[in-house]
Amino acid sequence: MTWLLPRLLMALVAALLGFAIGVAVRKATGVDSLGLGFGVVSGVVLMMLVDAVRGHRLLNWLRGNQFENAPRDTGLWGEVGYRIERAVRDRDRAVTRGQLELEQFLSAIEASPNGVLMLDAQEQIVWCNRVAADHFSLDPQRDLRQRITNLVRAPAFVAHLQAGRYAEPLVLGNGRGPGTLSIVVREYGEGMRLVLSLDITERLRNEAMRRDFVANVSHEIRTPLTVLSGFIETMHSLPLTAVERERVLTLMTQQTQRMQTLVSDLLALSQLEGSPRPAPDRWVGLDGLLQRIAADAEALSAGRHTLRLKPATNVELAGIESELLSAIANLVTNAVRYTPDGGDVEVTWRLLEDGSGELAVVDTGPGIAREHIPRLTERFYRVDGSRSRETGGTGLGLSIVKHVMQRHGGELMVQSEVGKGSRFRLVFPGARVRQASDSALGDEAAFNAALSEH
Ligand code: ADP
Repeated sequence: MTWLLPRLLMALVAALLGFAIGVAVRKATGVDSLGLGFGVVSGVVLMMLVDAVRGHRLLNWLRGNQFENAPRDTGLWGEVGYRIERAVRDRDRAVTRGQLELEQFLSAIEASPNGVLMLDAQEQIVWCNRVAADHFSLDPQRDLRQRITNLVRAPAFVAHLQAGRYAEPLVLGNGRGPGTLSIVVREYGEGMRLVLSLDITERLRNEAMRRDFVANVSHEIRTPLTVLSGFIETMHSLPLTAVERERVLTLMTQQTQRMQTLVSDLLALSQLEGSPRPAPDRWVGLDGLLQRIAADAEALSAGRHTLRLKPATNVELAGIESELLSAIANLVTNAVRYTPDGGDVEVTWRLLEDGSGELAVVDTGPGIAREHIPRLTERFYRVDGSRSRETGGTGLGLSIVKHVMQRHGGELMVQSEVGKGSRFRLVFPGARVRQASDSALGDEAAFNAALSEH
């Protein structure tokens, strides 16, 4: 009520002024009622004039954009102006806050890895994020307010949307490519619908891979098991001579070994997948690894090949010794197993210009046709299945090599030509390669430094 006092004061001033004018008029005319009338009218007119001027100023401010403050009059009009200004500012602030929250909300949905599409009751697009636009081949700006069924014409999608039964997600081929989408529809508000889309291509591929893997493992184990159970039955039902018995037992041992190799390769793969990345500062001497691998390869070859497997590299590799050993050994044994008698197998080492190191296993074997090369590292992929099994292969060797190289930040590269032989290259990143003499020098320098400190 702060405005009341100024208003009363103004009324008092108007009354005084009216009184003065009334007195003046009565004096001039000598008529009492005329003086009274003039006095009252001029007092009221004065009040009205002041109100009109202030009211007009306030109206002008209201008609504008209200960027500036409302007129700061004293009394009632000032108070009214101030209150309106505060209400307007509060409303503006609430609108700005609302807009900001909406923008944050939309950018959070925009960042979602899922497609989000909002439809009104007429199936028109109200809003969609970029992922949904990509999934349904839409333009987020141009296609707003368009009926979704005019733009996404896949019959399964249209039927699902119009059926109104959204309990089960719809699985749909992605319009843009060979991918697959899982689409979930939810109703909200008055007839509005939210369409969520998720690209499940990768998931389906992984599931298929897992199914294939289980089928492959079962197949690989079933074959030796069938052979073994056949032999067991034979031994049960037929009287065998000592020689026959020996032969059967040898064959049974071979099958058991085959299963053992398979299980140990499977374990190696699962260990590679589950264990942390190899430390970058555990150095393993390459020459020592090659010595051990060469001894096994010589036993496997039994003099049937010319082997040059021990280049003096004087190099150390940073990584896990057992993994590095298994990667190189897999390549060398493959070369020996697939190269016909009389062929050559060689291991070479060289430092590349960028500091990385390349270990190559080269053979003069049958070579591999171009179309097989990209698939060699798939689990159980074999070019020559019978040769692989005959020589104790599991079809997992090269996928183990690939995993080991990936974990060490390196790469497996294959060059091969049918009839000419193959070259399998392991490229190790520079950070994981050092000359053994460097480390010796480093150790010596550290020793000297330690001496001089004492
Ligand atoms: P496997 O246990 O069958 O040898 P790998 O994963 O080690 O499995 O190799 C996959 C396939 O690649 C082999 O079955 C074979 O057909 C082919 N392969 C691998 N190394 C050589 C090689 N040095 N020469 C020719 N073919 C090879």
